[in-house]
Amino acid sequence: MSFKNITTFIQQTFDTEAFIPLHEPRFTGNEKKYLNDCIDSTFVSSVGKYVDIFEKEFARTVGSKYAIATVNGTAALHISLLLADVKKEDEVITQPLTFIATCNAISYIGAKQIFVDVDLDTMGLSPDSLKSFLETNCELKGNACINKTTGKIIKACVPMHTFGHPCRIEEIKNICDIWNIALVEDAAESLGSYYKEKHTGTFGKVGAFSFNGNKIITSGGGGAIVTDDENLAKRAKHITTTAKIPHSYEYVHDEIGYNYRLPNINASLLVAQLEQLDNFLKSKRELTLKYKKFFSTNNEIKFIEEPKDSKSNYWLQTVLLNDKIKRDEFLDFTNKNGVMTRPIWRLMNELEMFKDCQCTDLKNAKYLEERVVNIPSSVRV
Ligand SMILES: *Cc1c(COP(=O)(O)O)cnc(C)c1O
Repeated sequence: MSFKNITTFIQQTFDTEAFIPLHEPRFTGNEKKYLNDCIDSTFVSSVGKYVDIFEKEFARTVGSKYAIATVNGTAALHISLLLADVKKEDEVITQPLTFIATCNAISYIGAKQIFVDVDLDTMGLSPDSLKSFLETNCELKGNACINKTTGKIIKACVPMHTFGHPCRIEEIKNICDIWNIALVEDAAESLGSYYKEKHTGTFGKVGAFSFNGNKIITSGGGGAIVTDDENLAKRAKHITTTAKIPHSYEYVHDEIGYNYRLPNINASLLVAQLEQLDNFLKSKRELTLKYKKFFSTNNEIKFIEEPKDSKSNYWLQTVLLNDKIKRDEFLDFTNKNGVMTRPIWRLMNELEMFKDCQCTDLKNAKYLEERVVNIPSSVRV
């Protein structure tokens, strides 16, 4: 099967010979209605009903007790880490194969990343790699997990559900519990993805979601923190809204807070988007079936399916090439011929900012980095 055949198949699937983006948003529901309503109300900013409606509906959708809307997913991660009590000088374990935001949020606090390997099938943090890192390098002192190499406390672990495929989150949770490490899920890509019928982002103390323009639902920019802990939820609301003490006219703030609240106008869009989530998921699964069938006869390109015990949202459809040379040829050909494809991210530990971070053997991450490509994944309704 030539790259030409693949390009033609994708053009047929999306029913166009025009440029095919990787993932474009769909606004075919109540978006305009709610947006207009929001504008007419003049409450476009930090007060208004859509934020409240969204938070309630979102919590219900993922099955968590509370959801707090934020201005973007990075802000949601930043606050999630603060809720997990991560402080300057602490360390946080994460995966090297992720979008930069995961690592940025850790650095905003002044904490340091530790990179453990991913699993080949999930592309997410490997519980085996995590366990062996902890057993080799760490000890429990009192209640703290101490990294014997640096003498610092490992406060949190941030696995990410890559392209919507759930990682082995239950095993990761169990290991974190043993080592008294807070589990903070980066579920930015996995709205609508479940591990053993439990929604991703709801396994740990807190979870973070993103509604950036390329995500499965979008408010232009937006994010959410989810938790079952009432105190954490209250604290999240407080510090994302400048830590203002409620008062009918006085401005009193009791700590350094953040202006991370989602504007009501974005929330109005998001309420409409959330109403369509089930349709989006259905459309993505239909696309998956088409791709899966098409690539099943191909020896050079493997279509990546949802891992065991999980249901993926198939946010970005993903293929694996045989090697880096083939990957680059595929990227060149498709992008030159109007079909947008993208490689997976460069490993975080190879970026200038994170070069000196402690790492385990990262052979799976490296393998995937050289071979994984995302292909057009937009909802087709
Ligand atoms: C999109 C994304 C985020 C958050 O991104 P924002 O653009 O700030 O909403 C965080 N982590 C991962 C893995 C993502 O893909």
